[in-house]
Amino acid sequence: MAPERAGAGTATEPAGASRWRPRLAKARAALGERLGSALARRDLDATTWEALEEALLGADVSLDVAEELLARLRAEAAERRTGDPRDVRGLLRDAIADLMHSPDGELDRSGSPAVWLLVGVNGSGKTTTIGKLAHAEAAAGRRVVLAAADTFRAAATEQLAAWAERAGAQLVRGNPGGDPAAVVFDAISHAAAAGADLVIADTAGRLHTNHNLMGELAKIRRVAERAPGQLREVLVTLDATVGQNGLAQARTFGEAAGVTGVVLTKLDGSARGGSVLSVRAELGVPVKLVGLGEGTGDLVPFDAAAFASALVGTEET
Ligand code: GDP
Repeated sequence: MAPERAGAGTATEPAGASRWRPRLAKARAALGERLGSALARRDLDATTWEALEEALLGADVSLDVAEELLARLRAEAAERRTGDPRDVRGLLRDAIADLMHSPDGELDRSGSPAVWLLVGVNGSGKTTTIGKLAHAEAAAGRRVVLAAADTFRAAATEQLAAWAERAGAQLVRGNPGGDPAAVVFDAISHAAAAGADLVIADTAGRLHTNHNLMGELAKIRRVAERAPGQLREVLVTLDATVGQNGLAQARTFGEAAGVTGVVLTKLDGSARGGSVLSVRAELGVPVKLVGLGEGTGDLVPFDAAAFASALVGTEET
């Protein structure tokens, strides 16, 4: 994974937040203005709590999550006997960081080869994410094989071929319209024979209501689990600009493919950063990676504290 190149951070800001902050400008702006005016009120009274709830809902935080956060904030404010709305910003930041924190956010690279499947609707950033991952893993010295198992989209295969070349990874592709599971099987066999460390497979992402697609994903999964492959990650790409609507789609993919983590793409262009808070509750899996741009280095491990700090801001910012 690309290492964090951000500065050390300040006393009130975790390391990495300085890199996240400019990329989260849209999400932050969506929450910021209303949050700012709620917290600028004089008393922490019912109207202030209402204004806070509106600020959260306006940033695409779901009602359930907004209520959960507010209940915690109210309890903490009472415990600290604070009546000053300005104290709530720090409490909110910590509450979001806790909500999003995940001890199991690391990618599993064990196995030879380890197999990672990428699933998700077309346009959600699968191919780009695979390219970025291939680049980072190859740069870390791992031998990577890409499997172009979306055999129905010639453009996706070409895009993947370009990424593979750039990353110095090998690409295994099938015949147009061919059996995607066979491509994954070939890629794993090839990787095992060549002593490669990792197979990353692209998959089709047509309409999530397509039952054939879900059957196909389940079949790919079965093939990927078979020796010599060791299926370690099934990552669903979720376009952050789509907000809460994307969650239902991601859940459908999760049910078919047994998702182990979420890659939240395009967070840099999203005004709906608040929807991220529902990912764990909705999908039951952690956000493992975040796309903060289109460049090779713009895929970073999810950092709950940096995310919360960039979204909510510090007292000074
Ligand atoms: P796929 O159809 O799921 O394979 O999606 P693609 O990988 O082709 O991505 C769709 C579009 O989203 C492309 O124009 C990508 O450059 C863009 N994209 C992917 N990830 C990110 C990201 O993290 N940030 C931004 N700004 N754009 C992204």
